Order: sequence, then structure tokens, then C-alpha cells
Amino acid sequence: MSQLLSLDEASRCMKCGFCMSSCPVYNVDHIESHVARGRNVLIRWASNSSIPVDGAYGERLSYCLLCGRCEAVCPAKVPSTAINVAARTDLVNKRGLAWLQRFVYRGILKHRNLMARLLGLAALVPGVSVKDGKPLRHLADSVSIFTKGLSIPKLSRPFLSTRLPSRMTPPKGVHVRGQVAIFPGCAFEFFFADMGERMALALVEAGFEVVYPQGLTCCGLAVRSAGDLTTAQLMARHNIEILSHFDHIVTGCATCSSALKDYGRWFPDNDAWQPRASSLSAKVSDLSEFLVSEGFQPKPAEPVTITYHDPCHLKWRQAIRDEPRRLLGSIEGLKYVEMEGADECCGLGGAFGITHREASLAIQAKKMQSIRRTGAQIVVTSCPGCLIQLRDGARRHGLPIEVMHISQLIGGQREQPHRLRSAGDGGGQSPRPKSAP
Ligand code: SF4
Ligand code: SF4
Repeated sequence: MSQLLSLDEASRCMKCGFCMSSCPVYNVDHIESHVARGRNVLIRWASNSSIPVDGAYGERLSYCLLCGRCEAVCPAKVPSTAINVAARTDLVNKRGLAWLQRFVYRGILKHRNLMARLLGLAALVPGVSVKDGKPLRHLADSVSIFTKGLSIPKLSRPFLSTRLPSRMTPPKGVHVRGQVAIFPGCAFEFFFADMGERMALALVEAGFEVVYPQGLTCCGLAVRSAGDLTTAQLMARHNIEILSHFDHIVTGCATCSSALKDYGRWFPDNDAWQPRASSLSAKVSDLSEFLVSEGFQPKPAEPVTITYHDPCHLKWRQAIRDEPRRLLGSIEGLKYVEMEGADECCGLGGAFGITHREASLAIQAKKMQSIRRTGAQIVVTSCPGCLIQLRDGARRHGLPIEVMHISQLIGGQREQPHRLRSAGDGGGQSPRPKSAP
């Protein structure tokens, strides 16, 4: 989006303040420039050169999870997240990226093979990875210095691309209904390979031949959100080349599906790539969205009480709310309880969870209170990023609850939920601290 268009769109803000009550960041820090109403004013001022486009301005832009809640309540339909990303892009074009961002986005994320090799080497270090059947332990103690205390999961061994055959077919007797390419994203490929397998199994059981396309790269959303449009377009073009000949592309990562569905808007001035990107976006589905549309019926499970956390990238960016609940509600044996504030952000927001740790932890604490009140034994979600943040929160707050990805309850059904607590790299829960910080 050009600077001019940002100004144009931001001018539609009526300053009504409706966005303030829904913004997770404003609700914990009460700073007007951290919510859509205030930020849109700053962006307009920057666009007409009334304020300098400097580091302080960039800092204001960064205090946003890009969750999209503000847009959902905005009576003027101001696209505040797109405006913010456009402003960040303008900032990067004018001032360049910080060296760390340049290194991560252009040196590592852009080169998936290099990333795989580096992570593969890291996985060989004792204690850094987890193999099938071993309980999950987080890397908090060893790498929390880099993540400001956010505990991240161990690497999967082997990675998903090595575990899955390049093609899986439905079991004998199941009518083959078509072919699906799965988009694993970085999380399923490197950290939650068990969940990637469950996703593939669910699709196979639904009657689809599942293909794991080789050579995919990161979806690019983190890079796009930071304003590095050039690198994000490179990643998108790479994925489009590989995926364009498939009829259905399914992912279990809410962040990846929101990015892939948005590719059509990543090439606004490119007549060659824009139609290809839009065509791909139209074929992308979230896992639950796809399975519900195909009438998939998960197998029964042992009795346990579950609740669900809506990832912002699913609820606010894709308007997908009912599908995961319908899938979970259809599993015989499970008792579903709705969480008050289920669609409130967990506080991760990609890099926000590390770069704005204080605000992220305050938002996380609210989420933990909501989860605790449900009395559920398992909280389910559809985004590996949320899963990391919720597990981190459960550890911090000593919550006696397990955090699972939806694929673990619907895919394969080879293990019942209670057994998943100690099995595989995707199913376990990390040790909880004795007391919350
Ligand atoms: S809800 Fe929309 S119109 Fe109202 S202040 Fe927020 S951005 Fe502006
Ligand atoms: S996108 Fe989310 S964090 Fe950003 S201003 Fe809107 S509600 Fe607040």
C-alpha cells in the first residue's frame, strides 16, 4: 500500500474510540498511540510530514499485535492492520531494517534449506531436540536468554518432511475424494512434526490423497508484518511456484493460512504475479475449515473436558470461528465448555511476544485467568504460535491444564487425549514451575 493510500484510509477514522475496548495492547497499557485510533493519527501526520519518520515513530507502530480485533468493531471499517503494515513498509523503505531483522529475514528465513540445515545441526546437540515417544521438555532454560523468558519447544527429530512420505493415500475401502497439498509452515516442519503427522492423517481419513510438496519456504508473514515487503514477496513467489498446480492447499497453522490467503494482496502493482497470487489464495483452507466443509467425522475419544482458544489469525483475519468448535463438538466422549473471552488474544503476536515482553505477559495473564475459569483439562487451539504462548503461560501460572493443537484430537486417533500428555513431541506438557512469577 502506498503512503498516499495509507493516509487516505487512515483519514476515514472517526475517532469514535470503539477500537479501544477491544485492543489487547491498549487494555493493558492504556497508551493512546498503541491503539488504532491514536496510531492512525500518527500515520497521517507522518504521511504529510508533520512528524519525523524516525525510530520513535517506528516504536509506536510496533506496539500492535496486528490481531485485527479493532477492525471487527470499527463502524467506519478502517483497515487499521493494513494501514499499520503499510506504514511499517514505508518506514523500512526509508530507514532500512535493523541488522538483526535483516539477518533473520534475509539471511535465514528466506533460505529454507539453510534454515533446515542449521536447525538440523542444532537438533543434534543433546537436549535440544526430542524424538518420537519421549516426553516434551521446553528449551526455556537454555535459550530463554534469547527469547526474554518465552519458553519455546524442542526441535522435532526428524523434521516433518523426513517423517511423512511424499504422498499418502486413504486406507482401503475409503473413497478417494481428491488430492490435498499440505503447507506445514516452519512450526510443524521443525518443532511440531507430530502435529503435522496428525494433520496429514486426518486428511487421509477424510478421503484425500495427501501430498507433502518439497521445497516450500516460510509463509513470509513475520517478514511482511515487519514491513520487509521485498523479502516477503520473494517467499510468496517461491511458495506460489510450488503450490499453484494443486487444487487444495491445507494448513493447520492459522498464521500460515492467513498469509497464504492474503498473498493476493502482496503484489498490488505487479500484473504478472498478482493474478497468480490471488488464484493460489482462493485454494487455501485452514484444517478445520476444510474438514468441516468435507463433512469429516472424527473418531470418539475418552471422556475429558476441553475448551478452545481462538487464534486471532483465524477468528479476526479469516472469520473462522465455528468450524473448530463443530469438529471438537462432534467428537463423541469429549465434553466441550466455551471459554469466556475465547477470542481474546494470547499475547504472542509473532515477534511481539519477545520484543514487547511486558505487554505480552500482561495479555497472557488475562488469557490464563479465562482458561482457569473454564475448569477444562485441555485447551485446544489451531495455531502453533498460540500453542507456544499458552503452554508458556500454563507453566508460568501453574495451570493444571494441557494445551493441544486441534490436529491431536482429530487426526489419526491412534492415541486418546489422556495418553498424549506424555507421548510424542507435540503432545506433552512442559514441567510447571512451583509458583507463578
Ligand atoms: S473504531 Fe475505527 S473509526 Fe473508531 S476510532 Fe477506532 S479506528 Fe477510528
Ligand atoms: S490490530 Fe490488535 S493490537 Fe493492533 S491496534 Fe488493532 S486491536 Fe490493537
